[in-house]
Amino acid sequence: MKALNFINGKWQPALSGQWAPVVNPANGEAIGEAALSAAADVDAAVQAAKAAQKKWALVPAPKRADVLYKVGLLLKERKEQLARLLTMEMGKVIEEARGEVQEGIDMAFYMAGEGRRLFGDTTPSELKDKFAMSVRVPVGVVGIITPWNFPIAIATWKSFPAIVAGNAVVWKPALETPFMARELAAIFAEAGLPDGVFNVVHGDGPMAGSALVEHPDVPVISFTGSNDVGRQIAEKCGRLLKKVSLEMGGKNAVIVMDDADLTLAVDGIVWSAFGTSGQRCTACSRVIVHERVKQELERRLLEAVKTLKIGDGLDETVKVGPVIHEEALKKIDRYVHIGREEGAKLLVGGHILREGDYARGFYYAPTIFTDVTPDMRIAREEIFGPVVSIISVRSLDEAIAVNNGVDYGLSSAIFTRDVNNVFRAMRDLDTGIVYVNAGTTGAEIHLPFGGTKGTGNGHRDSGVAALDVFTEWRSIYVDFSGKLQRAQIDTGD
Ligand code: NAD
Repeated sequence: MKALNFINGKWQPALSGQWAPVVNPANGEAIGEAALSAAADVDAAVQAAKAAQKKWALVPAPKRADVLYKVGLLLKERKEQLARLLTMEMGKVIEEARGEVQEGIDMAFYMAGEGRRLFGDTTPSELKDKFAMSVRVPVGVVGIITPWNFPIAIATWKSFPAIVAGNAVVWKPALETPFMARELAAIFAEAGLPDGVFNVVHGDGPMAGSALVEHPDVPVISFTGSNDVGRQIAEKCGRLLKKVSLEMGGKNAVIVMDDADLTLAVDGIVWSAFGTSGQRCTACSRVIVHERVKQELERRLLEAVKTLKIGDGLDETVKVGPVIHEEALKKIDRYVHIGREEGAKLLVGGHILREGDYARGFYYAPTIFTDVTPDMRIAREEIFGPVVSIISVRSLDEAIAVNNGVDYGLSSAIFTRDVNNVFRAMRDLDTGIVYVNAGTTGAEIHLPFGGTKGTGNGHRDSGVAALDVFTEWRSIYVDFSGKLQRAQIDTGD
């Protein structure tokens, strides 16, 4: 399989003719290659997008939405095929891959609805015979840069609102997962999107990604990925006075109070910590437990983890798939060593799986540390693997302080039956997403998605909030008095 660039409605290799291998993390086998693009490829895509956007912006929004609706139908029709390909290139288990494609379907239909909304405001003017309103206008060419862990969903969170609002898109997907991008581009073309409105340029971050960020004809960058890269992009965009939306890492916690339903809490923790092998930005990597139920929670968690089948995500019975590549395995293992050195107690896991079939892929044993203190690095830094740290606390106040005491602010959760605890948590947990009696993952596409502090820079993906990234507000005053009326001066006093 080859993932070509999709520029101005045409499939083409990188101008350099170079390719990067794409590997199935479940078995290490090469499944294809992706175009390894550079600045000239990005420029070709941006020029195509710039020309196409001018016409696209003039298409009535409900007509633009019709295309998205067709995209939704095609995604729905191909859900199973896409999910299988997603599992092969990224590794997540097939059930989760289906869920990820479903997110794209939901987003297509939701954003198609926006074609008949895209609401602005009308407001009274302070002057007689004058009309005032504000309307959303597209920004132009939108640069989208995405990670490998949600290879299709995140692109839909960004590109669908951008396109319905009248922008054109140049998307640089992660080099590890180019095939979902290929499929989405093909679906856009089949749905009748005019050439040049949606373009894909494959390549690595430092070359293709940087070229997109720095391109003078791309006024807005929407990025999801790591903090290090996000910070670099923000610095560049700051210098260039570009609008930039950043969705970055997390260090998400589940709080378990002493009155919690422990069966439910264990289900929530296992799903959030080990689903997608811990490689979700919203993965639970800390469990903050009331000391009165710590021992019992640990006992039940251990029991649950022992039942998790690890393997190739295409096997329907597997619950934990591989991690993305060898480099990720090594990073996770380094953190496990750090945890041991810091004095945390390893309850289960803590090693790379190398025996038998595991030897071919990239598998890490689901890992739980306990007796972790909030100052340890394993309790503060994003590991991005199936590793969770248990921290014991004595009160809700302490739990909230521990939850909030990290540099990230994406997602948090609390298990409790006490309504007072619930409302205090809803008010005092400082993350962009809060779950009550559910794990740290499970966002729905019609609500804003994103985080506070080191997780983001104040923007949100998903929901109507996403439109704020891809539109500018234009305020319009229409004076029908037939004479000069000066605001704040001709007050009639
Ligand atoms: P990454 O930052 O390494 O890469 C993300 C994207 O940026 C890739 O497409 C990459 O090629 C590109 N890139 C890398 N260097 C670049 C540069 N100098 N200029 C421009 N682009 C560049 O992240 P990753 O390893 O692919 O993904 C994992 C990270 O993503 C984790 O930190 C995770 O928490 C985060 N994430 C966040 C969210 C969220 O919504 N908050 C969602 C999913 C993943």
